[in-house]
Amino acid sequence: MTIASNLGFPRMGRNRELKKALEQFWAGKLPAEQLRSTAKQLRKAHWELQEEAGLAQIPCNDFTLYDHMLDTAIMAGVIPDRFADISDPLDQYFAMARGGKPRDGKAGPTALEMTKWYDTNYHYLVPEFKRNQTFRLDSRKAVGEFREAKSLGIPARPVLVGPVTFLTLGKAKEPGFEPLELLSSLLPVYEEVLRELAAAGAEWVQIDEPCLVTDVDERVLEALEQSFARLTASAPSLKILLATYFGPIGEALPRVLKLPVQAVHLDLTRGEDQLDAALDAVPAGLTLSLGLVDGRNVWKSDLWSAVGRADKAVKRLGFGRVMIAPSCSLLHSPIDLDDETALDPEVKEWLAFARQKLDEIVLIAKAAGGERTQVVAQLDANQAAITRRRNSPRTHNPEVRARLAAVTPVILERRSPYERRKTAQRSKTPLPAFPTTTIGSFPQTEEVRKARAANKAGTLSADAYDKFLKSEIEQAIRWQEQVGLDVLVHGEFERNDMVEYFGEQLNGFVFTANGWVQSYGSRCVKPPIIFGDVTRRGPMTTAWTKYAQSLTGKPVKGMLTGPVTILQWSFVRDDQPRRDTCWQIACAIRDEVADLEHGGAAVIQIDEPALREGLPLRRADWAPYLRWAVDAFRLAAGGAKDETQIHTHMCYCEFNDIIDSIAALDADVISLETSRSQMEILGAFREFRYPNEVGPGVYDIHSPRLPSQAEIEQLLDKALAVLSPDQVWVNPDCGLKTRRWEEVKPALTAMVAAARNRRGGGSA
Ligand code: GLN
Ligand code: ZN
Repeated sequence: MTIASNLGFPRMGRNRELKKALEQFWAGKLPAEQLRSTAKQLRKAHWELQEEAGLAQIPCNDFTLYDHMLDTAIMAGVIPDRFADISDPLDQYFAMARGGKPRDGKAGPTALEMTKWYDTNYHYLVPEFKRNQTFRLDSRKAVGEFREAKSLGIPARPVLVGPVTFLTLGKAKEPGFEPLELLSSLLPVYEEVLRELAAAGAEWVQIDEPCLVTDVDERVLEALEQSFARLTASAPSLKILLATYFGPIGEALPRVLKLPVQAVHLDLTRGEDQLDAALDAVPAGLTLSLGLVDGRNVWKSDLWSAVGRADKAVKRLGFGRVMIAPSCSLLHSPIDLDDETALDPEVKEWLAFARQKLDEIVLIAKAAGGERTQVVAQLDANQAAITRRRNSPRTHNPEVRARLAAVTPVILERRSPYERRKTAQRSKTPLPAFPTTTIGSFPQTEEVRKARAANKAGTLSADAYDKFLKSEIEQAIRWQEQVGLDVLVHGEFERNDMVEYFGEQLNGFVFTANGWVQSYGSRCVKPPIIFGDVTRRGPMTTAWTKYAQSLTGKPVKGMLTGPVTILQWSFVRDDQPRRDTCWQIACAIRDEVADLEHGGAAVIQIDEPALREGLPLRRADWAPYLRWAVDAFRLAAGGAKDETQIHTHMCYCEFNDIIDSIAALDADVISLETSRSQMEILGAFREFRYPNEVGPGVYDIHSPRLPSQAEIEQLLDKALAVLSPDQVWVNPDCGLKTRRWEEVKPALTAMVAAARNRRGGGSA
């Protein structure tokens, strides 16, 4: 048989046991010992589950209490000074993850920054390096977990984040050096870890270097050569599997295959032609690990096609030199489809979560490994399900397909250029200079969440829930009028989540009951699954906006989530290009825009916070993505009349390098997250004369800290240094749903006062 292998397993547990234990521990309601024992039980359960599935190589040290990059930082003793005097290791660990507790009346140390793990929705903690950073082996977690598995009779394969990926993902906290320069002082730590693992009896170790699927330069390749030469020499008995994932290695492939390791893992779901290139260049003795099962998605693999590729490798290398694996760690998949008892059975048959993916790996490994006759029936059953999915009328809607085929450049354009629209908008909806608004949501209080849950559970009738929401909206409108905001919002109280709310009302989506995926730390998300053509059943938001507008003479903004964000935050069907799915969603949003307009909305916001995160990992692939993503937005917004003011909103990111695409959206007004970086990002607007209106966020809603009027005015002045006064809106950074009213009220009061002061020509 070929070698059935896994690169990593979800950590949370099938009932999110880890999340619950962590949150109880943080709340002081669970002793550390119990948190540790929950973690231990989860590891055991997950190893056993993989062993039962028939995997030959099972990862360990893929588990973490919070994040694997944080674990790596701790392993190498990369602990910023501000945490140095926290003596309890667990307290120190969580202080780095979430910020430290206040001490002696002073605020605790701020957490490490968090950012996205490549192009996934998982967030890692960013290690901080000093110029004279020293390293020391500071944690025995890897060897500890190896021994733990061994004592259960499982010869696991420890996983380490590779030294080059670790350094390149970190941040230099002092100017004038790059983390990669620290490589030679970091490597002794890795050498020591490998020696310990070898001494403990490990046969294999998996070293992840996903940096190889990004644009790497010569320095990075040399750093990898230096690293693997030293690591191999430090523990000659240990076999190293170098894992890459999230894309093809590209040009560097022949060089990577020559590294002194025993096996290289390739993501073949995202770089299909990599297999032929690898088979052409593979040196004698090297094992290839084939990432044939998509670890990033929820669809059943086409097993016969995977077997065909595995056969090719076996022919060249022999059984013993072929591993069958998921494309990447299964961290990004929900755990078990069997738990989805309420899922639409037709769609369910098309899906595979982590446990089912393990079964797929084993089937491929057997079929390509001389045991085909034993699994032919299962492969054929898989083929039948794949065919049923392909032929299902539920995935194809001829109407929306015809509509997409008929999209012309004219359909994407607003009727008139911005200058003309501006005049029409100003005469329809006159606003003062420095108009004030918010991003959409108001606090999702305990009461709001309880009412929603009760309605879902059937204990609060639809009528009573409707009445409740209306009274929330009315209070929000009254309060906004009173504080003097110019463009009001209804508050989004009816929405659980900005994507789920729309997905639930669109055809082509299903929702799981337990399909959780870790986003960061204890936080999990349950992305909707887009299985078929997307169409709108009817208006999705108009009733709430209309109701809110009926209460006030001020304009109320209609609030929509944009097509790119809905796509980005869902599991997307893999049987057509993402672009097509995105444009179908755009058509639905376009119809919603028309209905909102029809209902009297003069201002409509289409949020696209996820526009930037859809960027491909390599720069050469950016342009085609940006073109179709921008066009998706324009398809959604382009039908609006001149006098309808289209807003968009973006957050969580830097915009400088995609500023032209942001301008190409041609939204009349764009609100951006800027306050945390003290308007730094507005630098882009200095060089690039942004033509339309901009609302640079002046209140950091991610922090419980309240901004003063003077601070807000200072931020406004910074914005006015690069933007012209008749271009500037005044608004918070993002929606206010995570804040409390006690915070929102004074902050927005200060914000309105700041805008008024600027209108009157006052200065700070
Ligand atoms: N309109 C959404 C809200 O206010 C926007 C959220 C977001 O940008 N992430 O909550
Ligand atoms: Zn936002």
